[in-house]
Amino acid sequence: MPTKKPTSEQFEAYQGLYDYFNGTLFNNELPAIILNFSRHSGACGFFAPNRWTKVKYTCPGCSLNVWGKPGLRIKCVDCDKDLEDGE
Ligand SMILES: [Zn+2]
Repeated sequence: MPTKKPTSEQFEAYQGLYDYFNGTLFNNELPAIILNFSRHSGACGFFAPNRWTKVKYTCPGCSLNVWGKPGLRIKCVDCDKDLEDGE
Protein backbone atom coordinates (compact mmCIF):
# COMPACT_ATOMS: atom_id res chain seq x y z
CA MET A 1 0.00 0.00 0.00
CA PRO A 2 1.46 3.41 -0.96
CA THR A 3 2.41 5.69 1.90
CA LYS A 4 1.61 8.90 -0.02
CA LYS A 5 -1.69 9.75 -1.64
CA PRO A 6 -1.58 10.99 -5.24
CA THR A 7 -3.09 14.40 -4.45
CA SER A 8 -0.56 15.09 -1.68
CA GLU A 9 2.30 13.90 -3.84
CA GLN A 10 1.21 16.10 -6.77
CA PHE A 11 0.86 19.25 -4.69
CA GLU A 12 4.18 18.60 -2.94
CA ALA A 13 5.72 18.52 -6.43
CA TYR A 14 4.07 21.85 -7.35
CA GLN A 15 5.22 23.37 -4.06
CA GLY A 16 8.73 22.10 -4.73
CA LEU A 17 8.69 23.78 -8.14
CA TYR A 18 7.47 27.04 -6.62
CA ASP A 19 10.17 26.89 -3.93
CA TYR A 20 12.84 26.14 -6.52
CA PHE A 21 11.91 29.05 -8.81
CA ASN A 22 11.34 31.40 -5.87
CA GLY A 23 14.86 30.65 -4.67
CA THR A 24 16.51 30.58 -8.09
CA LEU A 25 14.79 33.52 -9.73
CA PHE A 26 13.52 35.67 -6.83
CA ASN A 27 16.02 35.12 -4.00
CA ASN A 28 13.15 33.65 -1.91
CA GLU A 29 11.44 37.05 -1.78
CA LEU A 30 8.03 35.85 -2.98
CA PRO A 31 5.44 35.21 -0.23
CA ALA A 32 3.89 31.86 0.61
CA ILE A 33 1.10 30.94 -1.80
CA ILE A 34 -1.93 28.72 -2.18
CA LEU A 35 -1.90 26.84 -5.45
CA ASN A 36 -5.30 26.55 -7.14
CA PHE A 37 -5.79 25.30 -10.67
CA SER A 38 -9.56 25.25 -10.97
CA ARG A 39 -10.71 28.82 -11.67
CA HIS A 40 -12.97 27.71 -14.55
CA SER A 41 -12.93 25.15 -17.30
CA GLY A 42 -10.62 25.91 -20.18
CA ALA A 43 -8.45 28.31 -18.17
CA CYS A 44 -4.68 27.94 -18.45
CA GLY A 45 -4.36 29.53 -15.01
CA PHE A 46 -5.05 32.79 -13.24
CA PHE A 47 -3.32 35.28 -10.97
CA ALA A 48 -5.07 37.03 -8.10
CA PRO A 49 -2.38 38.85 -6.09
CA ASN A 50 -4.77 40.55 -3.64
CA ARG A 51 -7.25 37.71 -3.24
CA TRP A 52 -6.28 37.07 0.39
CA THR A 53 -5.44 40.64 1.34
CA LYS A 54 -7.85 42.20 3.82
CA VAL A 55 -7.86 45.62 5.37
CA LYS A 56 -9.40 46.55 8.73
CA TYR A 57 -11.77 49.52 8.64
CA THR A 58 -12.83 51.21 11.88
CA CYS A 59 -15.60 53.69 12.57
CA PRO A 60 -14.12 56.74 14.39
CA GLY A 61 -17.44 57.22 16.22
CA CYS A 62 -18.29 53.80 17.67
CA SER A 63 -15.16 51.72 16.90
CA LEU A 64 -17.11 49.27 14.71
CA ASN A 65 -14.59 47.07 12.87
CA VAL A 66 -15.09 45.64 9.38
CA TRP A 67 -12.58 43.69 7.27
CA GLY A 68 -12.65 43.90 3.50
CA LYS A 69 -10.57 44.28 0.39
CA PRO A 70 -8.32 47.34 0.04
CA GLY A 71 -9.87 50.52 -1.34
CA LEU A 72 -13.43 50.09 0.00
CA ARG A 73 -15.49 53.08 1.06
CA ILE A 74 -17.70 52.10 4.01
CA LYS A 75 -20.00 54.33 6.05
CA CYS A 76 -21.32 53.61 9.55
CA VAL A 77 -25.07 54.19 9.42
CA ASP A 78 -25.38 54.76 13.18
CA CYS A 79 -22.64 57.44 13.34
CA ASP A 80 -22.97 58.76 9.76
CA LYS A 81 -19.15 58.65 9.48
CA ASP A 82 -16.80 57.03 6.96
CA LEU A 83 -14.86 54.06 8.34
CA GLU A 84 -11.10 54.65 8.38
CA ASP A 85 -8.51 52.30 6.92
CA GLY A 86 -6.69 51.06 10.03
CA GLU A 87 -3.82 49.16 8.38
ZN1 LIG B 1 -20.04 54.16 14.05
